[in-house]
Amino acid sequence: MQTMGANMRIILLGPPGVGKGTQAELLCQHFDIPQISTGDMLRDLAASHSSLGEKIHHLIASGKLVDDHIVLKLVEERIKQKDCVHGFLFDGFPRTIAQADALKHDRVKIDYVIELYLDDEDIIDHIAGRLIHPASGRVYHNAYHPPKIPDKDDETGEPLIHRIDDNRETILQRLHIYREHTELLIHYYQNWMKSGDTFSPKYHAVSGEGSIKQVFERILENLKN
Ligand code: AMP
Repeated sequence: MQTMGANMRIILLGPPGVGKGTQAELLCQHFDIPQISTGDMLRDLAASHSSLGEKIHHLIASGKLVDDHIVLKLVEERIKQKDCVHGFLFDGFPRTIAQADALKHDRVKIDYVIELYLDDEDIIDHIAGRLIHPASGRVYHNAYHPPKIPDKDDETGEPLIHRIDDNRETILQRLHIYREHTELLIHYYQNWMKSGDTFSPKYHAVSGEGSIKQVFERILENLKN
């Protein structure tokens, strides 16, 4: 773990199932920064029995994006909290140009944008074996990162579940949406960096292929430049 005060603000981009959640967890431990997963925050909201919760539940279950203004409000509130003072990692945010523009407009400083990439076949393979611990957002995988006791969270012993949107049909929809909206962010950040604006984050594309450790080390290397 790095010493406190080492500012590190990261955006982790990449398609669903590329291993973002797992790598996000490792990076956050390493840099001692909070993981801001809009997916986790929205799943919490979806679990509430409000009409907003139901709307969000429906969007998540069908693999569609939640409205920008809802997501932005959650993020704005979250980054004001004390634990974000030395940095944070955005996992699954921004997902649209409007969300990225809002960050830029609010002068939210980002040091690095890391894009994780992987073949579609590997993505489907990743998602098919994925298990999560809903309360913490911890991610496991039956083959690549199994829990110590089958179907139980390592830290709390609570049951692990499959996400409602981790089925083949929804995965294909989520990949489609990623290509349609989120992939544009790759060009957005590449172009911003090329513009020479000193406020722009550094952008690196990193392969998500290999073991969790290999990918993690690859990301760390890119966070040095
Ligand atoms: P994730 O856990 O990041 O894969 O997100 C799960 C689902 O939550 C997505 O398929 C979307 O329905 C919703 N979601 C998460 N983050 C965002 C975001 N930044 N913008 C819009 N919808 C989001």
